[in-house]
Amino acid sequence: MNEQETVIVLVEDDPNIADLVDMYLRQAGYRVYQGADGEAGLRLVKDRQPKLVILDVGLPGGLDGLEVCRRLRTTSDIPIIMLTARDGEVDRVLGLEMGADDYVTKPFSPRELVARVKAILRRADGPARDTPTVLAVGDIEVDQGRREARLRGEVVPLAAREFDLLAYLVENRGLALTRRQLLDGVWGADWIGDERTVDVHVRQLRKKLTDAFPLSTVWGVGYRLD
Ligand code: CA
Repeated sequence: MNEQETVIVLVEDDPNIADLVDMYLRQAGYRVYQGADGEAGLRLVKDRQPKLVILDVGLPGGLDGLEVCRRLRTTSDIPIIMLTARDGEVDRVLGLEMGADDYVTKPFSPRELVARVKAILRRADGPARDTPTVLAVGDIEVDQGRREARLRGEVVPLAAREFDLLAYLVENRGLALTRRQLLDGVWGADWIGDERTVDVHVRQLRKKLTDAFPLSTVWGVGYRLD
């Protein structure tokens, strides 16, 4: 796919940050549409059909970034990167639990943000063209073609990254995988982030897939799908 045509919606009310990020993204070849509040962001996503959304948590008006993220997730698994203002874990974890794919904490390096955008888009464009396969793990079906997980036949709504993690675990079933291996395999070797990201996504998968999800924590190592 031509990156020239890749549309990104950027929702950020601080014009200095928005313009800086916008500039870096354009330099990287993306087409950027900016919104300064939640309503504008949702409208842009609907109208512009972006490949990725960058979403500030703290937005003016009735819709903050978390609410926008939650609303987007009800209809779409579009990749979402959250921008958080506070260094506290709450925003970060909450951002991920809302179904965001990634986050950066302000102040951040625009270069790093662009690197994450590229990594996520590469992932999103990547393996989908392969032969569709459906793999069963107990009562759970993982449908690679439709990028869908089903629990006893019912579709379980997963964020894009949650699905990628699940698919990777299924492909490597029976193996104890370190958090680093999971980061490399799911987020990409060039992903700059910490290993707790894996734990947050695992927690989400366990919650959504319930006790039917046979994932063991291997102490001192990481995780193993049984
Ligand atoms: Ca803000």
